[in-house]
Amino acid sequence: MTGLDLSLFLFLFAIFIYVFATNIITTQHKVYLLFHFFMMIWPLGQVGVHLTDQPHLQIFYINTSFVGLSMLGFGWLLFTKFLVNVTYRPSRRALICMVLPSLLVSIGVVWNPWNAFVSTLDGSYEERIYGPILWVMVAVLLSYYVYSLRILFKAYGSRKLPQDRARIANAITGIIIIVAFPMLDLLLNVVLAPWLPVIPGLTSLGIVLSDLYFVFSLKKHRSLDLVKIAQQDVMDTLSVGMIVLDEHDHVIEMNQGVSPRMPISVGETLNMEDLLSCFSIDPESKEAFLHAYRTSPSQRIQTEIAIEYDEMLKQYFTLHVGPIIVNGRRIGKTVTFQDISELKCHILKSQEQYSSMQERNRALIYMQDELFQANRKLEQMAITDSLTGCYNRRFLMQQLEHEVLTNIRYKIPFALLLFDIDLFKIVNDTYGHVVGDEVIRRTADAVRHSLRRTDILARYGGEEFTVYLPHTNKEQAEMLAQRIREVVENNEIPIGRGRAPVSVTISMGMLVVDEQSDLHLDDVKSYLRDLFAKVDSALYKAKDNGRNRVVNL
Ligand code: GH3
Ligand code: MG
Ligand code: MG
Repeated sequence: MTGLDLSLFLFLFAIFIYVFATNIITTQHKVYLLFHFFMMIWPLGQVGVHLTDQPHLQIFYINTSFVGLSMLGFGWLLFTKFLVNVTYRPSRRALICMVLPSLLVSIGVVWNPWNAFVSTLDGSYEERIYGPILWVMVAVLLSYYVYSLRILFKAYGSRKLPQDRARIANAITGIIIIVAFPMLDLLLNVVLAPWLPVIPGLTSLGIVLSDLYFVFSLKKHRSLDLVKIAQQDVMDTLSVGMIVLDEHDHVIEMNQGVSPRMPISVGETLNMEDLLSCFSIDPESKEAFLHAYRTSPSQRIQTEIAIEYDEMLKQYFTLHVGPIIVNGRRIGKTVTFQDISELKCHILKSQEQYSSMQERNRALIYMQDELFQANRKLEQMAITDSLTGCYNRRFLMQQLEHEVLTNIRYKIPFALLLFDIDLFKIVNDTYGHVVGDEVIRRTADAVRHSLRRTDILARYGGEEFTVYLPHTNKEQAEMLAQRIREVVENNEIPIGRGRAPVSVTISMGMLVVDEQSDLHLDDVKSYLRDLFAKVDSALYKAKDNGRNRVVNL
């Protein structure tokens, strides 16, 4: 082979790489091609050395071989990375770090300073002596291989799927072949060279063998199959766990979303009951789900399941089974697990919040009710007299201020009564204040019962009371006043066993307002004061006239 032939070979090969690198193929294809290219260079260089006796061409071929070999370390590492992770995308820095040892060694090989890489014995490189750079290269290559092996073994240990593991195991075999032959070459043709005849082509053989093995295993496992990679990629990046079953319920595919806790692997027959036993599921739903799973295989079915790690930690899933139907025929099923823990957590939280809100609402309504009752009581207390339960004087005055104004404006007649228990001091002195109180209370009760609903009875002070009679003329007022007086007179108040009941009389002043045609009210309070002064003097008159009587002014 001449230099021209080699240039043509390289030129054609460069075009081949260009076409491959720029067409739509996966990055993994491109990396494999690079790796393959490095593999090709070694045997090419080895052939070249023996085809010429010109030293400068010989050294060129030797350099080409060794540059290819040293770059193979980088190629292998990169390809290993892509093998274990289809989605691997190295950063520029990572790429530089990976290529640097190979590149430095290659520079050393080409530069050959002080013949530190290779030197001739007699001017021809057919017989050559290797220097320390070769050993540096051996060490660098070994480091690449050991590091790649480490990555592969780690990946092998972490993979679940059998086809994944097989792919990685093949790569490990490939790397062992590729290292074993050059090492043998090194041992026989370099270390033991003085004692043994040269055995040519050992490294080339190793490279070719491992490449053959490699191409075969790539084909077998379709590692470079774009669709397969894409499918696996999509399957593995799904957040949903997915198992694909054939029509006999054999597992033909499953992704990494399927928990390793589940008793299932590719190639086995899926037993839904066993699968469900790994989860906590409400027994009724489980029965219904299993029944539907067995009896209606062409239906989509779904249930909720949970994994209980401990009391606090629970993971919730929806388990969904759907048929795969092609041309109207069911050819398999997909079983999916979707993690709904977050959603479930939100639902549970909002339910909790809702019930605690309801609880607070109930407490609030109860408090509101109590407050309302207390307010009513307070209002009642503010306007009533505690001993008799009648209205108090303040309330009466407030009412009257309003009522009197209306009465005068619309010329409505009304009457005021003021009465006082006769000789009450004697009652107190004779029976004591407790009985005195009881007499006041009973008298008020008796009077209240003889009044109309619209009349207002108020305790004016001590044992004096006022009655406001709205819509009442003189005759009616007189009749009512007499009735009240009689009721009190006839009211016998029991004061205890063995004691005669007490009865009292009252004296009453009466005032009727029914002719207020030209009355103008500027100050209702002073008008009321006048009215009370008048009725008070009527009461005095009644007392003076002998008590137990009504005096009308
Ligand atoms: P009169 O016929 O002139 O009215 O003679 P009286 O004894 O009733 O005289 P007066 O009305 O001036 O006296 C009222 C007495 O009633 C004075 C007071 O000790 C008593 N008294 C006032 N309020 C109460 C009360 O709430 N309970 C009791 N037990 N006695 C009261
Ligand atoms: Mg009095
Ligand atoms: Mg009195």
